[in-house]
Amino acid sequence: MSIPGLTITATPIGNLDDLSPRAVASFQSADWIACEDTRHTGLMLKRLGISHGQLIAYHDHTSTKAREKLLKALADGKAITLVSDAGTPLISDPGYRLVRACRDSNIPVTTVPGPSAVLAALVISGLPTDRFHFAGFLPNTASKRQKALAKLMRIDATIICYESAKRLAETLAEAASIAPHRHCAVARELTKTYEESWLDEVHVLATYFAEHDTPKGEIVVMFAPPSDDEHSYSDDDLIAMLKAALDDGLSRRDAVRDVTEATKMGKTHIYDLMLRVDHSSS
Ligand code: SAM
Repeated sequence: MSIPGLTITATPIGNLDDLSPRAVASFQSADWIACEDTRHTGLMLKRLGISHGQLIAYHDHTSTKAREKLLKALADGKAITLVSDAGTPLISDPGYRLVRACRDSNIPVTTVPGPSAVLAALVISGLPTDRFHFAGFLPNTASKRQKALAKLMRIDATIICYESAKRLAETLAEAASIAPHRHCAVARELTKTYEESWLDEVHVLATYFAEHDTPKGEIVVMFAPPSDDEHSYSDDDLIAMLKAALDDGLSRRDAVRDVTEATKMGKTHIYDLMLRVDHSSS
């Protein structure tokens, strides 16, 4: 029996045994399967020996025409299943615009839920699970990433970020400069043969990954919420504290030391802010 309308179907994030019987049924009964990469999804379905409807490439940002084609087919009563390369579509993957367009046109949308790296990583992390904030991928440039991290790490929830293995050490170093003693978890290659996970203070994991070879594979990095005794300070607060220390007659070095000790924040970050104070007063 095909499900009318659009079905958002989750696929495994590394272990094909995680594909659910309902996901198999949705592939078998769909008229069309919209996917990021027809070759990738075609290969997965072939490996699993699943007969399926026609595969159609779909990306939110490049496929206005494809979206119109899908919407017309849905309005004509076709059953379409949307999948991404791995995990749950729309979660740092295409699909939002298509779902929104269906909702706006009163086309039914349903889901076959299943694997997603965000929840898989969170539940094994050892970090609080009662409130979490999924931040997706952090910005690419170092300055934007540092700003984004500083903002995220003030949120009263566990923070979850998708990260590339190549950039993990850099991101952890940046986080350590903001809140070195905050607990942090890293999950690698979830559900796969070489799955690994870590839980420690940010500065410990930053040092560990700086001293070891770049890990291989897919990574999720998570930060605990600020603890009650860890105040969170905006850059403006910290700059004001540095200026006040200088006004009190402290040397630049002593001002950095005092503000670092008082806030328990990373010395490198406080030092960078001191450079901004120098720059603004020169
Ligand atoms: N839609 C997917 C989901 O539901 O998890 C995520 C797609 S996003 C383009 C890919 C990112 O998810 C990877 O760069 C990595 O950060 C994370 N990821 C996906 N599979 C993973 C796995 N098996 N182990 C750890 N992280 C994974």
